[in-house]
Amino acid sequence: MRVALYPGSFDPITLGHLDILERASKLFDRVIIAVANNTTKQPFIALGKRLELIREATQHLANVEVSHFEGLTVQFAKSCQAAVLIRGLRAVSDFEHEFQMFHMNQTLEKSLDSVILMASGPFQFLSSSLVREVAKFKGDISHAVPPNVAHYLNHEHPF
Ligand code: ADP
Repeated sequence: MRVALYPGSFDPITLGHLDILERASKLFDRVIIAVANNTTKQPFIALGKRLELIREATQHLANVEVSHFEGLTVQFAKSCQAAVLIRGLRAVSDFEHEFQMFHMNQTLEKSLDSVILMASGPFQFLSSSLVREVAKFKGDISHAVPPNVAHYLNHEHPF
């Protein structure tokens, strides 16, 4: 069974993330989307809520599981028996960072490979940080995030 791990902050999950996840779920037997819990950074959306939003938004994907971790991605990947890391690549902006991450992860764990999926057209310029900025000022983010996330940000998030 081919298990892939899709790690990230997902603060919040966007339609760009969801597109990568849907495509990865067709390539692998099991995909674990895992929220990296960075304890030194104050998140925009609390970890528990982020996990709940991701669970709701990925309900239609039968071979996708939602998880979270602290510490090194390679260690968590090993504990899940994932052979592959999934990452998304948007035009130009992500390249340097993703390249560095790939090399560091390969150095730390040779047996763990990475599959980098190109962002689909409409999502090339979409990021969680932009969504956060627009949401803070009550702008419309419904074209950028799954409906449950838009509802949460519009009506429930304590800004
Ligand atoms: P991180 O904090 O690890 O960068 P993110 O939640 O921002 O976590 O992103 C997780 C992964 O998804 C990264 O590989 C990132 O490049 C990718 N990604 C982010 N936004 C998009 C998008 N709009 N389209 C495709 N991939 C994306």
